[in-house]
Amino acid sequence: MTHALSASSLCKRYRSTWALRDCDLALPAGRVIALVGPNGAGKTTLLRLTVGLLSPTSGSIEVFDSSPTANTPQALARIGFLAQEHPLYRSFTVADLLHFGASLNIRFDRRLAEKRLDSLGIPLDRKAGALSGGQQSQVALALALAKRPDLLVLDEPLASLDPVARREFLQTLMGAVAQDGITVLFSSHVVHELERVCDYLVVLNHGRIALDGDIDAVLARHRILTGPRSEMDDPRLGAVLEATHSDRHTSLLVRDGAAIDGWQEQQAGLEDVVLAYLRGSATIEKREVAAS
Ligand code: ATP
Repeated sequence: MTHALSASSLCKRYRSTWALRDCDLALPAGRVIALVGPNGAGKTTLLRLTVGLLSPTSGSIEVFDSSPTANTPQALARIGFLAQEHPLYRSFTVADLLHFGASLNIRFDRRLAEKRLDSLGIPLDRKAGALSGGQQSQVALALALAKRPDLLVLDEPLASLDPVARREFLQTLMGAVAQDGITVLFSSHVVHELERVCDYLVVLNHGRIALDGDIDAVLARHRILTGPRSEMDDPRLGAVLEATHSDRHTSLLVRDGAAIDGWQEQQAGLEDVVLAYLRGSATIEKREVAAS
C-alpha cells in the first residue's frame, strides 16, 4: 500500500515541552484523514512537520517516501498547506492572489481556481480584506487546491466558520477529492462532522497517538453494551473504555467485546469513541448518574 505519510518514533520538543512523543504512523494515500485532539495535543506540530516547516527532534517522518524538508520544487509541489489562520494579503484582489499563486507554484492551475470561485459567487476583483470569513476560507482553499497537490494539509480549517460556511467548505473539499483523488489530512475539533467526510482517523492526546485507523474498522471494534448493574468482570465484555452506572443499569463502551445474555448491544458513535480515548484510553471511568 502507498503511504502518504509515514512516521517512526517521531518526537518534537520545543525547549522543555514535548509536543510529540514516539509517534508511529502509516497513513494511506487517497484518503480523507481527520486528525483530532484537544488543545495542545500536538496537532499543529504534526502538521507542520508534515509540510516541512519543522524538523523532528528525533525519529523520522516521510511524505510519499521523501523527507518533507527536502525542499526540492517537485517535493514542494506535491504538498499543499492551509495554515490555521489561512492568511491572505488583505489588500490583494482575488485575481492578484491567483496571479501570485501561479508565479510561485509549478503545477498551479489558475483556471481551476477561477472556476471554483466563480461557482461560489466570489468576485475575482474583490479585495481579500473585503471578503467574509467564509469567503476568505474558500479563496485560501481554492489557492491550495490549484497547486494540484497530492497531499493537502489543513490546520483547523473549520474553526472560524459558521455551520453553512463549514458545509460549503467541506463540499468544495470533497468535490476536489472526488475529482483529483488527493489525500487530505486535516485537524479538527468538530468530531460529529468528520464522520460524513473522513474515512480515516488519527486521535492525538498529550503528544501521543491514542488511536488511528480506518473509521469503519474503528467503529466496528467499539460498541455500547447495556445491561443489569454489574461490576464488569466478565472477560467477554472486552476492554471497557467507559462505564456509566445508574441504580439498576450499567452502560459500557467496549472495544472488541461481545454481547452477553441479558445485555443489549448498540453501535458506538464516532464522537463517543473519540471522547473515550481522549479521556484516557482503556481506562475505566466510573460515572454515577441519576437513577434511571
Ligand atoms: P490547538 O488545538 O490548541 O491548536 P495543537 O493540538 O495544535 O493545539 P500544538 O500547537 O502542536 O497543539 O502544541 C503542542 C504543545 O507544544 C503545546 O503544549 C504547546 O504549548 C507547545 N508548543 C507549540 N508550539 C510551541 C512553540 N513554538 N514553542 C514552545 N512550545 C510550543
